[in-house]
Amino acid sequence: MKNYIVSARKYRPSTFRSVVGQTVLTTTLKNAIATNHLAHAYLFCGPRGVGKTTCARIFAKTINCFHPTESGEACNECDSCRGFNEQRSFNIHELDAASNNSVEEIRGLIEKVRIPPQVGRYSVYIIDEVHMLSTAAFNAFLKTLEEPPAHAIFILATTEKHRVLATILSRCQIYDFNRITISDMVEHLQYVAQQEGVEAEAEALGVIAQKADGGMRDALSIFDQVVSFCGSTITYQAVIDNLNVLDYEYYFRLITLFLQGDVANSLLVFNEILNKGFDAQNFVQGLAMHFRNLLTATDACTVQLMEVSAEVQKRYIDQSKQARVKFLYQGLLLVNECDLNFKQSKNKRLLVELMLIRLCQLTQTEDSLSEKKNIELSPIKVTPPQVKQPVVQSVEVQSQSATIEEKNIRQELRTQQKPLYAGSVSILGNRVSNEVEVAKKVEEEPLLDKKQRNATFTDNQFEKCWLEFAGSIQKNAKLTNTLMNFVPKRMTDTAFQLQLVNPVQQKDVQEILPTIKKFLTEKLSNDFLTIEIVIAENSQTNFAYTPEDCWDLMKKNNPVLEELKQNLSLEIL
Ligand SMILES: [Zn+2]
Repeated sequence: MKNYIVSARKYRPSTFRSVVGQTVLTTTLKNAIATNHLAHAYLFCGPRGVGKTTCARIFAKTINCFHPTESGEACNECDSCRGFNEQRSFNIHELDAASNNSVEEIRGLIEKVRIPPQVGRYSVYIIDEVHMLSTAAFNAFLKTLEEPPAHAIFILATTEKHRVLATILSRCQIYDFNRITISDMVEHLQYVAQQEGVEAEAEALGVIAQKADGGMRDALSIFDQVVSFCGSTITYQAVIDNLNVLDYEYYFRLITLFLQGDVANSLLVFNEILNKGFDAQNFVQGLAMHFRNLLTATDACTVQLMEVSAEVQKRYIDQSKQARVKFLYQGLLLVNECDLNFKQSKNKRLLVELMLIRLCQLTQTEDSLSEKKNIELSPIKVTPPQVKQPVVQSVEVQSQSATIEEKNIRQELRTQQKPLYAGSVSILGNRVSNEVEVAKKVEEEPLLDKKQRNATFTDNQFEKCWLEFAGSIQKNAKLTNTLMNFVPKRMTDTAFQLQLVNPVQQKDVQEILPTIKKFLTEKLSNDFLTIEIVIAENSQTNFAYTPEDCWDLMKKNNPVLEELKQNLSLEIL
């Protein structure tokens, strides 16, 4: 095997331009050098491995270069530059405050500061991890920092700015280094791989970058580690195996299972993950991240918040289209709740499994909303004696072209309709029962006219048009809700009856009824269509509020009630 130089050292940037992911900052430094506006002390802050020390070294080299380039970079050819590059320059002094934090060490440095450089204009003193200096060392250093000799420039670097004394901060020009973004890092890794003759999948480099968490140095050493395992071809699969990273395929698969409400397979996937030796909490945190990424993928503005490679980003966007934002939001809440409770939980596996079950139920809950409505509506179910099911209900013609979606809607409607309409009106005897008050006869039968359209249509087609209309009124969510939940029942070929539960609803729908009728007439090509609105009145009360409304109000004030109701299988009467 060829002699391998650690990439982090080999590919350490030698010019400002080659520093990864800190363009704004390096440009500012370059301009300061070009216009000769040098300060005597700089403080470089930021996470580890983002290029603080590297920038300090490039800075020291550039201000000492004999022939800087037009773009303000060091030439890398003059004596001074070569001295820097070969690490034998006397113009640069580095002190790692993490291991040399005593007052003696600082005094030694201060002694050196007095001596002017033999070659070049400036002596640069780099103090790494400056926050680790002892208070005595800080104080000893302060004097020199206040009145440095003209040739001395200090560059202090720290990962923890808040631990640096205010007296030091106030004497420095402060530069904040960013975490390096995943895409910047992947780009640089691609460059390194190319230089080393290594073939690497972009997704594989993405995982390395993610594992490095914003530090280029770490990314490069992980890259070296992977190269030593995989040789000259780096694949996504090899990387996740070697770095013990949980494959994000699992998360993509799980979301699909949640959306299908597939509890069994979700639990099996989790079992597989545990069997592979992954930590349950890591899995939960990864899942939270996945939900978070899906949420950011739903909006073009927030897509950039996702720190993944372009290929994976596209997959997130695709998957986010399959789920409702509400599902993603509630999912994220559930996962986060599980993460928070994880430490205290005695049975951690059960906790995670419970979360998975609840995630599967999120979509189920939406689908079974109509069933819940039935329970709530049940008190309104008034059964007049000897009422037969209206004939029209059996005349349901199953349109052959009905799509699955339509069938689902029909299914939903059927479950809604039954209790609501059961026995509300008897059309057979052409009489109105006591419990039902015919609110208003809206439309008179239109006069027969040869020009008038009289196309036949199925219940199915009518329902579809009705729901289409309901969905089209964007501005009024309450009205949409009413129309979605209450679909007129067919009384004759063209006469429909819409039964509502309170006068407020009736008033709302009445106002828009002409528009509804016009819409349906056009859609169904039938000018004889009539819709009549009736109210099922609770015989015992005359309140505008139905028990359902009361319950909604109570729930609003005390959300625990809903849980109580479900747990005890209570019904509203
Ligand atoms: Zn030079």
